[in-house]
Amino acid sequence: MDRREFSKRMLIAGTGAGLGLRATPSQARSGDYYEEPARRLPIREFDVVVAGGGTGGVVAAIAAARQGAQTALIEVKGYPGGTVTEGGTALHSFYNLWKAFDVEKRQVVRGIPQEIIDRLMKVGGCSGHAEMLTAYNYDSVCTAIDTELYKLITFEMLAEAGVHVFVNTLLAGAIMDGQRVAGAIVESRSGREAFYARSFVDCTAYGDLSAYAGARYTEPNDYPVCNSVGIGNVDIDKYHEFIQANKLTGQLARGMRSGKPDQIVRAGAEWVNLPELAQAARNIGMAMITTTVHDNYLMFLKCNLKLPVSPTDRDAVAKAELEIRRRMAQAVELFRQHVPGCEKAFMARTSPKLCIRRGRLIECDYDIPLADVLEGRHFDDEIMVYGFHDSAPRLQIKNGGTYGIPYRALCVKGIENLYACGMMITSNHDAHMSTRNTVSCMGQGQGAGTAAALCAARKCGTRDLPYGPLRDALNRSGVYFES
Ligand SMILES: Cc1cc2nc3c(=O)[nH]c(=O)nc-3n(C[C@H](O)[C@H](O)[C@H](O)COP(=O)(O)OP(=O)(O)OC[C@H]3O[C@@H](n4cnc5c(N)ncnc54)[C@H](O)[C@@H]3O)c2cc1C
Repeated sequence: MDRREFSKRMLIAGTGAGLGLRATPSQARSGDYYEEPARRLPIREFDVVVAGGGTGGVVAAIAAARQGAQTALIEVKGYPGGTVTEGGTALHSFYNLWKAFDVEKRQVVRGIPQEIIDRLMKVGGCSGHAEMLTAYNYDSVCTAIDTELYKLITFEMLAEAGVHVFVNTLLAGAIMDGQRVAGAIVESRSGREAFYARSFVDCTAYGDLSAYAGARYTEPNDYPVCNSVGIGNVDIDKYHEFIQANKLTGQLARGMRSGKPDQIVRAGAEWVNLPELAQAARNIGMAMITTTVHDNYLMFLKCNLKLPVSPTDRDAVAKAELEIRRRMAQAVELFRQHVPGCEKAFMARTSPKLCIRRGRLIECDYDIPLADVLEGRHFDDEIMVYGFHDSAPRLQIKNGGTYGIPYRALCVKGIENLYACGMMITSNHDAHMSTRNTVSCMGQGQGAGTAAALCAARKCGTRDLPYGPLRDALNRSGVYFES
């Protein structure tokens, strides 16, 4: 579906009620189309609505509520967390790449993202920021999490902050007032409702709210989709011994595991010396790197699949869901057959649906180019700094430093009161390989949520918010800046 068609449907879904459209049953069907009757929707009012309670959205909602904004969080699943609990193997990265460049070690993302880690550490749900012992030109630390505890801890933090959390609730449309988003249309088993607010943050990963609002976007389809299988009944130490015995190079980090420090929490292998296994892994798009915070569990093995079309295509995704489930079963079987300590492994968890690395790319006032990332550029309106690149060591931030994410990179072009946050920003694929990572999305969430609350309090649009008060609020809430 192209943007115009999507926006037309949005108008029908989102503003039909306002236009008072009515169709009798006989008029309702016209050729291949059914004209849905308009409905009166109950309205709820907030200061800030955050759509999508995932990696960025959780932090955005907590940040907005802590600024005193009445904040609604809309999440279609039954829990918060998003892709950070479903896709990746670890949170990259709270630090600069100090080891590779032999420069000062700095924790460059702090604030609410670090609070989540602190809370997880208290319940045994995190490896800590475990230093990489090998391959540290890829990253300096590895932060592995217990994904189930992550869902619980973030849910509790949202409740403590006073966020109105609407789980099992789908964002289904936008109500526009000129270039302003006036409301979000949501659907749940309690019915269809309109959530009005002054400021909106789109953290849906797919850019659903921005698309409903008529923002400009593209669908680059430049990554494989993936489901990640957690494998139970395994022995990670034996897995590591197997890697060593076969001289398979890869990443290694030690941290907290099952309550004990200095345990292997990340192990990866490149199967160059085991061509048969390497080929079998490649056939199912399986990445051979995993992390854990438990003695008998590998979280996750990723099974990738490149779709011919954008992952917004429901029918293509349906086929992929089945194929990837076959691949995950094969992945576990490969471990059972080939990896000592995994003979009785089983599929302990999968993601409820496949994960994407990019769906829609939403056009914002500033598009972060690769040079900003690699040159470590900073801006007079930045909301965070970041120092990790997923394509390291091929692409790294200059001298193990950081770059800034400017405020304008989150302001959705052409819409007065909407921020985009997370994997949906940054058009350049290689720049996106940095900005899309979990810890970057979390930091963006704190910036966007704080800004949305300040805009709501000042009754102003995103472009009328002065940087000074935003920077002060971010400083006060623990966000790190280089100067
Ligand atoms: C397979 C895979 C592996 C990865 N590996 C790593 C890694 O090892 N380390 C790393 O740092 N990063 C990794 N990444 C990248 C990183 O995980 C993501 O880019 C990041 O988590 C995206 O965060 P987000 O906030 O943009 O979206 P998400 O975390 O996906 O949040 C979006 C949320 O919005 C909800 N939602 C969507 N549409 C609607 C709607 N219409 N109504 C209501 N709710 C909605 C979703 O349910 C979800 O909870 C990986 C990504 C993938 C896919």
